[in-house]
Amino acid sequence: MMNYFRPAIASIQGYIPGEQPKRGTPIIKLNTNENPYPPSPKAIEVLRTLDSEWLRRYPDPYSRDFCHAVSEALSVPKDWIIVTNGSDDLLNILIRACAEGKRKVVYPMPSYVFYRTLASMQAAQVVEVNYPQDYQLPIDELVAAGGAVTLIATPNSPSGHLVPLDDLRQLASRVLGILAIDEAYVDFADYCALSLVQEFDNVIILRTLSKGYSLAGLRLGFGIANPELLSGLFKVKDNYNVDAVAILVGAAAMKDQEYKNNCADKVKRSRGKLAIDLSKIGFQVRASQGNFLLVTPPGDRAAAIYQSLKEQNILVRYFNLPGLDNKLRITVGTDEQNQQLLQAINSTCNF
Ligand SMILES: *Cc1c(COP(=O)(O)O)cnc(C)c1O
Repeated sequence: MMNYFRPAIASIQGYIPGEQPKRGTPIIKLNTNENPYPPSPKAIEVLRTLDSEWLRRYPDPYSRDFCHAVSEALSVPKDWIIVTNGSDDLLNILIRACAEGKRKVVYPMPSYVFYRTLASMQAAQVVEVNYPQDYQLPIDELVAAGGAVTLIATPNSPSGHLVPLDDLRQLASRVLGILAIDEAYVDFADYCALSLVQEFDNVIILRTLSKGYSLAGLRLGFGIANPELLSGLFKVKDNYNVDAVAILVGAAAMKDQEYKNNCADKVKRSRGKLAIDLSKIGFQVRASQGNFLLVTPPGDRAAAIYQSLKEQNILVRYFNLPGLDNKLRITVGTDEQNQQLLQAINSTCNF
């Protein structure tokens, strides 16, 4: 067939998402870091009683009901918030607004694989700086790379480590472009970097309701930065990038911080237990501040274990990338799901 696409599109492979099984498949899904608990009952109630008038009309282009809820929950002014269709939408907006050709996109590796996809689509130069073995932030190399946008996920996926605030501070003060701090997993972590938006006018914090709030299917995320930085992003975003249902259901979920924190506490306790149980059967387990663990099975068996778990209807993530070739990323499930995972691993290998 004729090549109808821009060179940047024709040459990329496209993001390969984690498998999403059909509804009703009896599967334990520990591959894409969803929260194992349901969303807040208050959010579900809003969905159940939604007036169809909300569907007839266009949604509010500024998602103000949701902004209001974020403003209250996190004590940030409303005009410091941009609301997006998942944080993937915000990453897309950021990269489209800032990067092109020599205006580079820079991030450490390994990290969220989608950064590369977005940057390549934009036809922007990409600089990937490898994390050292101990996952210290390679600040000098990141600065030297000279990004128009530098992306740091913290807690990082798939490693699970949290980047120290002082490292982020140094990076923010030294990069010439925007520093985007992707806090998708912040709800499971010991601290956050939100205060940096007040210290640095080039910092934006990215958040999502997909992980901590159990709303991955709703598609809702947001960014926090000073209004001047946000004004450039508002020019790029689709007018109606967030639907009316997401605004209302998301606002109810955001208001119910107590429910979210309770679920996160349960996940953190299960994370600790699962880490211990996997260590006992010989896995190397990295300490994690996210709702997942990056583990190295004994022997060279990551691929085989991945495959065998899949045959037993348990999905985990196997990246098969440099540095991650004998590793699995396992989402922390409920204690019951984690037990089933351990049993399935035990039946696979005789440790
Ligand atoms: C899950 C994830 C996202 C995307 O979240 P959505 O809001 O569902 O688009 C962004 N960054 C990282 C690091 C993630 O793990």
